[in-house]
Amino acid sequence: MAIERTLSIIKPDATARNITGKIIDKLESAGLRVVAQKRTKWSTADAEAFYAVHKERPFFNDLVAFMTSGPIVLQVLEGEGAVLKNRDVMGATNPADAADGTIRKDFAENIERNSVHGSDSAENAAAEIAMCFKDDELVG
Ligand code: ADP
Ligand code: MG
Repeated sequence: MAIERTLSIIKPDATARNITGKIIDKLESAGLRVVAQKRTKWSTADAEAFYAVHKERPFFNDLVAFMTSGPIVLQVLEGEGAVLKNRDVMGATNPADAADGTIRKDFAENIERNSVHGSDSAENAAAEIAMCFKDDELVG
């Protein structure tokens, strides 16, 4: 499988509990490498633009409120099959369904406050990375 890049976000529930290091440890231990990283806080417009694909979903407004409720950590991860590998390490959206050892199993509070985002395809990864970082902020 090819070397890929994917967008990862550590969400406000995790920054609030001071567990960004524990989450990054799981990602790095799985063979993913952080090639860009910044702690920031999204405006409502930022969150609405990022999650535009979900705007018709019943949870959209709550999700935007949650994602703007505190700091987040945006990161680009690189590695063999990084998109799928990151999704594997994250675990299922609902922590009740997440496999043992995954980030969401170990750290998520509920289906919304689930600690991490990860791109779901190579195409979406490229678009999400471009939304969050300039080219010269990626240092492989
Ligand atoms: P994933 O983050 O696993 O790719 P989705 O793309 O389906 O999941 O949803 C985006 C985010 O919206 C989830 O990570 C979660 O924070 C929130 N979310 C998804 N489904 C629900 C739901 N049924 N109720 C509340 N929040 C949800
Ligand atoms: Mg998704």
